[in-house]
Amino acid sequence: MQSDPHIVIASRAATRLRDGHVWVYRSDLDSENSLPPGSVVQVKDQRGKFLGTAIYSSSSQIALRMISPARLTAADLPKLIRERIREAIAYRRRVVRDTDAYRVIFSEADMLPGLIVDRYADILSLQVLTQAMDAPEVRPVVLETLQQELQPAAIVERSEPRIRELEELSPSPTAPLFGDKTETIFTMNGVRFHYSAFAGQKTGAFLDQRENYAAAESVASGEALDVFCYQGGFALHLARVCSQVTGVDSSRPALEAAERNAILNGRPEMEWVEANAFDLLRDYSAAGRLCDTIVLDPPAFARTKRNVDTALAGYKELNLRALRMLRPGGILITCSCSYHVSEADFIAVVASAAGDAHRGLRIVEKRNQSKDHPSLPSVPESSYLKCVILAVSS
Ligand code: SAH
Repeated sequence: MQSDPHIVIASRAATRLRDGHVWVYRSDLDSENSLPPGSVVQVKDQRGKFLGTAIYSSSSQIALRMISPARLTAADLPKLIRERIREAIAYRRRVVRDTDAYRVIFSEADMLPGLIVDRYADILSLQVLTQAMDAPEVRPVVLETLQQELQPAAIVERSEPRIRELEELSPSPTAPLFGDKTETIFTMNGVRFHYSAFAGQKTGAFLDQRENYAAAESVASGEALDVFCYQGGFALHLARVCSQVTGVDSSRPALEAAERNAILNGRPEMEWVEANAFDLLRDYSAAGRLCDTIVLDPPAFARTKRNVDTALAGYKELNLRALRMLRPGGILITCSCSYHVSEADFIAVVASAAGDAHRGLRIVEKRNQSKDHPSLPSVPESSYLKCVILAVSS
């Protein structure tokens, strides 16, 4: 019998794994032995001590992603995946409330590296981003288990072409995998949203903000601005408690979807403005427009460590402009989804903007991604979303 492939890693990588991290970079591989893409490999330190089982990528900078502390082989993978999917679903049953849209499987956080599954009511949207999860023996196991456990009307695949390219996977098969339903309506906290499987950004919605929508609603009032509103996630929640809500985004299709969502929720009076957020906030404050509630939820400004400074400058500028527009007693809900910007740095930037704007701030709440997007305590990369709620004093 052929022995299962193993790989030896540098000692600093072994220390990281012992500390609970789940990645090994390509530069930390001692021997590569030309393993086939997506292999299941046993990871060893320089002394030959077994550290756990990983899946191997022949192309990504992250060469190994740990899947188990136990000694496993490729033959064990289907059973492991079935168990992990069931465990991920059981976890969501415990922590997810008031929604039929949530992340069912979140890659490393569910010990299924490279597999992401989002549920939108009766449609599941799947992303496959590692060679091991894309393997022809693995894909049917994933589909069958999801069908058995969740009985969706349809499962669609919607992978990011850029990431599939990095993993040298075949071009993204954005396609139905099972069933032919591609449109549905999902509900979060009692707010309804249209869902179209192959439209929009990400897999359709920013599910990681779901609990933050409810938190924002619980403190919002008066005239509200949802800046970077996409399809209206925050705005539609604010509309239940605010006298007037304006959503701002640079994407016309996102705003059209937002408007359809507003109508679905019986709020045709909501205002949607297509604009560059930076310009619009400048124009509004120059015109002396004031608000009681402002949400800032920009796209990730820092995609790599190198542009953290530029990102911080962007966050400062945005928050400064928003703070200038807030009435005393007003509420700022400010977000950053850049992993490379820490919560402490983000709050420092907001504080510095408050200083420049001569506004006092209290932190009402510091929040993260919703519970269906869990993070791993030993993997800082898995905590990425910051949502800070602040109250403006005079
Ligand atoms: N708050 C949204 C998610 C926002 S994602 C929700 O909860 O669903 C970021 C959004 O910013 C995207 O919709 C994108 O179209 C928009 N965007 C990116 N750059 C922008 C800019 N300079 N001005 C306005 N909107 C922008």
